[in-house]
Amino acid sequence: MIEFQHVFKSYGQGRNILADISFRVTAGEFVYVAGPSGAGKSTLLKLIGGLETPSRGSIQVNGHRLEQLSARARPYLRRSVGVILQDTHLLYDRSAIENVLLPLTVTGLASDVARARARAALDKVGLSTKENTPPIELSGGEQQRLAIARAIVNRPAILIADEPTASLDRETARRIMSVFKDFNRVGVTTVIASHDDALMAEYATRAFKIEPGKFADSAARRSSTATTQTSGPGYQEPQIGGAAR
Ligand code: ADP
Repeated sequence: MIEFQHVFKSYGQGRNILADISFRVTAGEFVYVAGPSGAGKSTLLKLIGGLETPSRGSIQVNGHRLEQLSARARPYLRRSVGVILQDTHLLYDRSAIENVLLPLTVTGLASDVARARARAALDKVGLSTKENTPPIELSGGEQQRLAIARAIVNRPAILIADEPTASLDRETARRIMSVFKDFNRVGVTTVIASHDDALMAEYATRAFKIEPGKFADSAARRSSTATTQTSGPGYQEPQIGGAAR
């Protein structure tokens, strides 16, 4: 589903942000990416979403080999990976449903079919009563749920999210995480970057930890399919409690 083989990433002539990272994530896993600010969590997610290209190495996502991806194939990758970045990029001058309709405009769906799909997406994240509300009038948690609705409206096989609970109180953060868990339960492979180890441990089944020059995979010791480099001296492996709800 997602496979990195000896991936390196630097920006311009800069240092390697990610160096020689290899892993394989299979369909339906729930992975969280931990690590301090600036470690490269967003970079890893952007590589999975095809928003950045690797400097070296090979990345395969849902059958697409990203370093060879043609311009024609790129929209198919975009549709198979739902992306929620730190800045949700919601359009504040449009209603909630218009935001969710946006990714469907390029699919050529008839407008009534697209609208029904957008409504279903809003319903899945608990926002069906807010379809005509502009994002500016939604709470932080509701805006995050709207960003999730927009990311899943194309029914992606993979969902990636960068710090989706960062500015939310505990209860709202849990509500957001249970929305992700609901999609994961029906088979959506989920990768979330977060600082909140305790919260993520309740939901994720696997953890990647990125620190400068280090990459650890909690599955590396459990599974022979993980080919990840791990653990320097004194390195604490991420603790994962497994799917909670
Ligand atoms: P994290 O998500 O863990 O905070 P990032 O992946 O955002 O880390 O950033 C990792 C490093 O890469 C940081 O030093 C950041 O400044 C740098 N970086 C991220 N994006 C770019 C970019 N587009 N151009 C140059 N440097 C970047």
